Amino acid sequence: MICNNCGNNIVEGDKFCRNCGMSLKGENNFDEELLRVYVGKNYDKFVSRKFNVYMLMYPNAYMLYRKSYKYFIILLVLPFVPLIGIMVYFVLTFILAFSFNEMYLNEARDAINGIKQRNLGISSDALKELVANKGGTNLVAAIIYSLIVICLSLLMLVAFYYVLWWLLRMPVSFWNVWI
Ligand SMILES: [Zn+2]
Repeated sequence: MICNNCGNNIVEGDKFCRNCGMSLKGENNFDEELLRVYVGKNYDKFVSRKFNVYMLMYPNAYMLYRKSYKYFIILLVLPFVPLIGIMVYFVLTFILAFSFNEMYLNEARDAINGIKQRNLGISSDALKELVANKGGTNLVAAIIYSLIVICLSLLMLVAFYYVLWWLLRMPVSFWNVWI
């Protein structure tokens, strides 16, 4: 935790900042409020649950939704790695399903501390707005990604049936070459 006034690291349980002497009453509540603002939707689930079911159901879209772009890129590229890619992809999503919530909260706390340190002395409302912009969710990106995946899947399905239809219409002599 960090002092809102001077940016000094605060020792857990202190009532006043050891550097500038500011009263820390209510600071804990404010930190939780900032965390709630950062996480946005489903804050209570993030804090109370270890397992994240969305991570198993829609890993890529969910990473976009939570603005974890680093993991999104990793999950996007992994399946194209020959031989082990798909297996590693499933192992990683499984690990993330159990570790993402805690990891995300830690990242959120770090981000909030960073924002606090860079904006010492600003009003709590302004601070909340900065935190909300940094955190929160990106539903639009997740929806666009999902639509692209659905379109590509449909295209592949159509292409597959088209090729199948084309092969079945071939004269018997064509098949004799192969069989
Ligand atoms: Zn201080």
